[in-house]
Formats: sequence, C-alpha cells, structure tokens
Amino acid sequence: ALTYILVTGGAGYIGSHACKALRAAGFTPVTYDNLVTGWQDAVKFGPFEKGDLSDRARLDEVFAKYQPAAVMHFAALSQVGEAMSEPGRYWANNVGGSLTLIEAAVAAGCLDFVFSSTCATYGEHDNVVLDESTPQVPLNAYGASKRAVEDILRDFGASHGLRSVIFRYFNVAGADPEAEVGEFHRPETHLVPLVLDAIDGKRDALTIFGTDYDTPDGTCVRDYVHVCDLVDAHVLGLKWLKDGKGSQVFNLGTGTGFSVREVMDKAEATTGKSVPHSIGPRRAGDCTKLVSGSVRAATLLGWEPTRSDLETMIADAWGWHKAGAYER
Ligand code: UDP
Repeated sequence: ALTYILVTGGAGYIGSHACKALRAAGFTPVTYDNLVTGWQDAVKFGPFEKGDLSDRARLDEVFAKYQPAAVMHFAALSQVGEAMSEPGRYWANNVGGSLTLIEAAVAAGCLDFVFSSTCATYGEHDNVVLDESTPQVPLNAYGASKRAVEDILRDFGASHGLRSVIFRYFNVAGADPEAEVGEFHRPETHLVPLVLDAIDGKRDALTIFGTDYDTPDGTCVRDYVHVCDLVDAHVLGLKWLKDGKGSQVFNLGTGTGFSVREVMDKAEATTGKSVPHSIGPRRAGDCTKLVSGSVRAATLLGWEPTRSDLETMIADAWGWHKAGAYER
C-alpha cells in the first residue's frame, strides 16, 4: 500500500523539494495548497488537492481520502517585510490556518507532524550562539506567528498525544540540481534569486538593505542552507517520528554565516558576471545576524548537509534560474 504524507504548501519552494525527497524515499506526497503563493506546475511527485488551511471541511475530506501517515506543514506566508505591514494576514493565515490543520489532523488520528519554523523566532541576540534553547523573542510578525504555532503543537502534544518535529530554518537557498523544481516567488524578496535576476537583467539592480550593521562589512549575516539538504532533514525527521522517538526541535543551518556582500561576491565568481547594485536603508524587521549554533540535527538525526556550501547553492540556483520557471 502507498504511504501518503500530507504536504501542505507542496506547490511552494521548499514544499515542492520536500515532495521530491519524499518520493525518492518511497513515500507518496499529497500536496495540499491554495496556490496563493504556490504553483501547480511545481506539483510533480504525487497527487494535488487544492484547498485552504482555513477550510476545515476540505481538510477533513483530504484526510479521509488518503489517511496520511504524517503531515509536513510548509504552507505559510513567509516574508518579513510583508509581515511588518500586514501582520493580521500572518496571524490569520499562519496561526489560524495552522490551528485548523492541527485540529483536523488530530481528529483524523494523524498524530505525526513535521513543522516548518524559523530562526526568525529567536530575534536579535548579540554574540550569542543560537541553539534550540535560545529564548524566542521574534522581531516581526512572521517570527511571532511561527513561534505561536510551535506553542500550539506543544499544547496538542500534551493534550492529544500529537508528536511533532519542529525545524527552525535558517536561510534556505539553492534548487534541485536537476531543475525539476526551484525557487520561484512572485513577488520575489529573497536575496539569492534577486541577485541572479539582477545579474542577467531580469530586474533592476539589487538594493542592499543597510551597510551600517555591526558586522565585518556592515551588511547582514545569514546562515544559508541548501533546500535539498533541508528537505533531507525532513525525511529524517519523519523517520524519527515513525521510530517513536517523540517530539523534538531542530535548528537547520550549517553554523557558517555569510554577509549580503559575500553572497553577491560569490554569485559574481560563480556566474562570471557582475551584480548591478545600489545601497539602500535597512529593511524593517531584519536581524543583524542569524547563524545556527546547534549540532542537534547532526547528532540526533544523523543529518549531514552535502550541498550547503555557498558556491554549490548559487550554482544550483543559477542552473534553475536558467532552466526553469512556473510562469504561465
Ligand atoms: N537583502 C538585501 N536586498 C534584497 C533582499 C534581501 O540586502 O533585495 C538582505 C536582507 O536584508 C537580509 C538578507 O539579504 O539581510 C537575506 O534576506 P532574505 O529576504 O533572503 O531572507 P530573510 O533573512 O529575510 O529570511
């Protein structure tokens, strides 16, 4: 019999890569997505069920149809800038929608749950290593909404026996090296695809959001992890739950930080082209530095990133940039 995994947000950037990895691991991913920010063309590795997280009846129908062995919950709004200007959408969609999904999962007896959280839940911590016990003091409604869902999962664990693996992502970049799926946001706000678009003139010059941060070159520092490595951790997390190891939280980052300027420089070296850019003000809600200081995923899950060096991430993103798109 097929083992179905319900993948919310399976039509999005990370979710589509997760579907490919699940398929490779012998599972059948069922994508549940409202296509507000996702792309039906990205659903290539299993069935597609269109639906909204807030639609409990639709969720019940999909749980009944497939009886999934677990949920991987990627569907969310994920832009810091938008979260600052429209926090209500973040609370309604990310928190309200997740609560409806969690209630539907529990009602269906589907008690293994993998959740996409974020290092944005930590907020600003000067010179502190960010591990899973770092206090979560988010600077923006995006981080706050993800922290709230973590709390819901813990409460449902205590009350209903829900078992959750929570992954706190650092900065996800790169694409499937076979370019079957890749990063494609409209509008795009993420650094690596914006740099590549600027390089080939698909859009205006990159604006560097602030050069007066307390970092070596004044630009923000982030810990970038390859999307394929990231989703591999999810498959390991699923096995962790199926082995009965219980609820756990894992950072997913490599422990190495790169500044905005370093990313630009590496993109120039990798593509052999220059990045047109200008310097702008800071973006509201941005932290100075977000770098993981945890080896828990490596130690407990046996997670070993293999593509998360900056050059490979940019090369894979560039390969996808040239080959793929979901624009219709
Ligand atoms: N960034 C930038 N210009 C852009 C987009 C992003 O300078 O046009 C910077 C941003 O301020 C942050 C880093 O690049 O320091 C990564 O931003 P992104 O939006 O990719 O991810 P986030 O860290 O917000 O999750």
